[in-house]
Amino acid sequence: MSDTGGGHRASAEAIKAAFNEAFGEEYQVFITDLWTDHTPWPFNQLPRSYNFLVKHGTLWKMTYYGTAPRVVHQSNFAATSMFIARKVAKGLMKYQPDIIISVHPLMQHVPLRVLRARGLLEKIVFTTVVTDLSTCHPTWFHKLVTRCYCPSAEVAKRATKAGLKPSQIKVYGLPVRPSFIKPIRPKNVLRRELGMDEELPAVLLMGGGEGMGPIEATARALGNSLYDKYSSEPVGQVLVICGRNKKLADRLRSIKWQIPVQVKGFVTKMEECMGACDCIITKAGPGTIAEAMIRGLPIILNDYIAGQSPSNK
Ligand code: UDP
Repeated sequence: MSDTGGGHRASAEAIKAAFNEAFGEEYQVFITDLWTDHTPWPFNQLPRSYNFLVKHGTLWKMTYYGTAPRVVHQSNFAATSMFIARKVAKGLMKYQPDIIISVHPLMQHVPLRVLRARGLLEKIVFTTVVTDLSTCHPTWFHKLVTRCYCPSAEVAKRATKAGLKPSQIKVYGLPVRPSFIKPIRPKNVLRRELGMDEELPAVLLMGGGEGMGPIEATARALGNSLYDKYSSEPVGQVLVICGRNKKLADRLRSIKWQIPVQVKGFVTKMEECMGACDCIITKAGPGTIAEAMIRGLPIILNDYIAGQSPSNK
């Protein structure tokens, strides 16, 4: 995986937890950010570059759509491999893996080249688990994978179009951390722990792992509309999760709100934040949409990035 956004890590953790539940000690599962941990500079800056690009929508769109043709991304990966293959090989082989599972669109081409070059394609199972719900970048699909798990029939259709055989494709839903399907503590207890009002209806406001999209504008609009000017009382409250966007968290914390507003950075217990609220406003991130649906939270989508797509709406 790689920490571009929050969805890839969340899916990796979900798969790790599922392995643990199904096989106990039989498998050891390691989660590694291949780009950050196992490539040299400047390639190891990938999550930071992603963070920069998605904040500048036009640049992100150019990168996303510009690299979509196979001839472009394949030659890019071939060139990149010349610089990083040795370190990637060392990083992967350190684990002596039986199975490699990729949950990232940029994790197919270089690792599979490494396996092919070392004659390991037959010995190590290489699996892709696509973490986009409908439209997705063609780099997700590589003909040398053992299996490609697609969360929807739409993604499977794209895998077929990219040349994967029916035997390589399996439609299997999106991996979500098991904590989302376990019972959680009562709403008032969760609210108390999160520093929220125990009674007022609550909106959960977020924008993926990077805290993207019009979070501040939406928070300000909620601040106005959830304040009853006639009675001078709040009629609702907001829990804002800024993820890794520290600047946003600082800005929101410095505002003098007329309604109860709790601002958090990156949270590790998202299921509890969802359990404490009555609805969610978020960008169209597949992970967040799936989690909110499991928890039964009504969803309002206020943004999307190229790729995570209007089609998630
Ligand atoms: N997430 C989290 N803590 C945070 C912010 C986000 O655990 O503070 C998780 C969230 O629960 C979801 C994932 O990060 O599983 C975000 O994935 P999504 O596909 O919605 O968007 P991305 O960030 O990948 O663009």
